[in-house]
Amino acid sequence: MTARPGSGFAIRLGRWLNPPTSRLQVSLGTAVVLALLAASAQTHAQTLPSGAAAAAIEDIVIGSRILADFGVLDGFGHVSARDPDNPDHFLMSRSLAPALVTADDIMAFDLDGNAIDARGRQLFLERFIHGEIYKVRPDVNAVVHSHSPGVIPFGVTEKPLRAIFHNGHFLGDGAPVWEIRKTAGEKNGMLVNTSELGKSLAQTLGAGSVVLMRGHGDAVAGPDLKTTVFRAIYTEVNARLQMQAVALGGPINFLNQYEQAKSQNVDRPWDTWRKQVGAG
Ligand SMILES: [Zn+2]
Repeated sequence: MTARPGSGFAIRLGRWLNPPTSRLQVSLGTAVVLALLAASAQTHAQTLPSGAAAAAIEDIVIGSRILADFGVLDGFGHVSARDPDNPDHFLMSRSLAPALVTADDIMAFDLDGNAIDARGRQLFLERFIHGEIYKVRPDVNAVVHSHSPGVIPFGVTEKPLRAIFHNGHFLGDGAPVWEIRKTAGEKNGMLVNTSELGKSLAQTLGAGSVVLMRGHGDAVAGPDLKTTVFRAIYTEVNARLQMQAVALGGPINFLNQYEQAKSQNVDRPWDTWRKQVGAG
């Protein structure tokens, strides 16, 4: 097992989430990320929107790569941000593995999940997760949907996923679990591929930060993209720590309501993570 220079905590988390990675694979991966970002910047410098929207697009690209690097996203899952220039639109990639997303892949959608300018590009089937959450949560400006593996046991058992350490404080006394069968019946496709299903999921999320999707994954919401990426990562970490605490046996001393309400500075981890994916 080799250590990735400078990645600290992420190395340890990466070893939890992924098989050991060779130094060659890491080097190639970082080089590819750098090349893709540079190529995207050169190719699309003339067409990218300016200002806040351009920054949001960059954050989606980097956030997607960070979450893929942590193993929270794999070949599936997606990151979105509310369009800073139009609160009735959100920005998300065309259907593509998150680790491969570039700025040119980001598209605008209305909150019903209709692409504003599809140009024949394939769309994520589960884009309704994002639009329906933005509809009912004006405080939410970014959403992540993942198949975060550590949360699955908490969606299929009676054990709630609760805040067990400070970085998981936003989970509170337990993330709600959404059951697709209540809306789609027994014969369902396990995907949130309609507005009706997205609306049902958003209702279960309520005013919270995370909703678990039984036998599927989770949806994570936040006031900005950096915070939402932070929450998606630490939802996975919290789940694994809670499983370890359960394995030790006995009652678990979870965070109380005051500890759950702590504020969180996400700038430092974000700046670290973006360097680790080669985004400078
Ligand atoms: Zn999914």
